[in-house]
Amino acid sequence: MEKRPTALILGAGIMGLCTAWALLRQGFAVQVLDQAMPPNPAGASVDHHRLIRHAYGAQRGYMRMVDDAYAAWDRLWADLGEVLHVPTGVLALDEAEGAWLRETRAALRADGRAHEDMTAAAVEARFPYLSGAGIRDALFCPAGGVLLAERIVAALARHIQAHGAVIEVGRATAIHPESASVTLEGGATRGADVLVVAAGPWIPRLLPGIATRVTPSRQVVVRLEAPSAAWVQAPMLLDLAVEGGFYLVPPVAGTPIKIGDHSFSREGHPDDDRTPDPREVERILALARKRIPGIEGFARLGSATCFYDVEPEERFVIEPLGRRAWVMSGFSGHGFKFGAVLGERLALAIAQPATAATLPAWAAGDEVIPA
Ligand SMILES: Cc1cc2nc3c(=O)[nH]c(=O)nc-3n(C[C@H](O)[C@H](O)[C@H](O)COP(=O)(O)OP(=O)(O)OC[C@H]3O[C@@H](n4cnc5c(N)ncnc54)[C@H](O)[C@@H]3O)c2cc1C
Repeated sequence: MEKRPTALILGAGIMGLCTAWALLRQGFAVQVLDQAMPPNPAGASVDHHRLIRHAYGAQRGYMRMVDDAYAAWDRLWADLGEVLHVPTGVLALDEAEGAWLRETRAALRADGRAHEDMTAAAVEARFPYLSGAGIRDALFCPAGGVLLAERIVAALARHIQAHGAVIEVGRATAIHPESASVTLEGGATRGADVLVVAAGPWIPRLLPGIATRVTPSRQVVVRLEAPSAAWVQAPMLLDLAVEGGFYLVPPVAGTPIKIGDHSFSREGHPDDDRTPDPREVERILALARKRIPGIEGFARLGSATCFYDVEPEERFVIEPLGRRAWVMSGFSGHGFKFGAVLGERLALAIAQPATAATLPAWAAGDEVIPA
């Protein structure tokens, strides 16, 4: 009998697990290595929710990739036997008539995608828990929603193990792309026919070559209890205020409201102390105060520090490391929504190398047609 090809995946976040799922479907024997059993709350993927939206400014490659992403999630839901996505629509607000919203509107219009221009008064009328104060431009898109991230990671980990993948807990200290292997703490090694390095914000120390392109970035999020049932129907909110702006994830499927900011700290390392400073929490809440009347009275359910792996132009890095290894990195603050489709495309490139040529440019957001 012909031997199955083998794959070793370093990192059991959304990228590593989706690639494992897709490689199993391509007939590989798969081993996943992570420093903690998934879902690892220290990873970039593990939180109640992540957003999926077509609103992408001028980045039309990523806007279009969202269609592929939805199709890939549907294939994953079919395998998992449950849908872990809640449609909410997207409300984007701008106090400055800035380029991002204008470019988003132009891109949606060019592709004939449903969207609705709104005034500040219309925003207040339809979403009475928001204030229209200062809004100069507003856009609502009916498509888009919330991916239940932690539940997806947990379900994927269970699914791939049930289909023969092995998940081992261990910390890699060195990566050897040329032999498709890694060294573990204590000196043991693990290897396979092909290695995928999907180590999230830890990657710059593991792959020094990438440290010039990808930076870990400490980000604080605040969780609040929704004060009324109306919030459960709220859209995701992208608020582009002059002084920074914030995003809000509505409290779908029993999750809290979550608020974070749009700017990258580009500071810290994921192994550092993660306790949020009260001033960091205050700064996030201050961004939302004007838009959400009464937010001071919402019960605080906690705050958390997460890490992005930031690429300066927020272009994903999915590239070969020689002939037997690939790296997945640079997912900045927007990678989760593409986890399933990126895993599928990388698995295809590994199984059928002739399809690999366009993958790095497509993953980086260029408007190329992938194989
Ligand atoms: C606060 C926040 C909000 C976000 N919001 C969105 C959003 O709304 N929409 C969206 O699309 N994206 C969003 N993102 C981005 C998205 O979540 C990330 O891009 C994505 O989760 C990255 O997945 P990953 O698998 O690359 O990394 P990770 O999930 O971090 O996985 C990497 C794994 O590698 C393991 N690992 C690392 N080093 C080692 C080692 N040496 N040995 C063994 N194991 C190791 C880690 O333990 C970890 O489990 C957000 C991210 C954050 C932090």
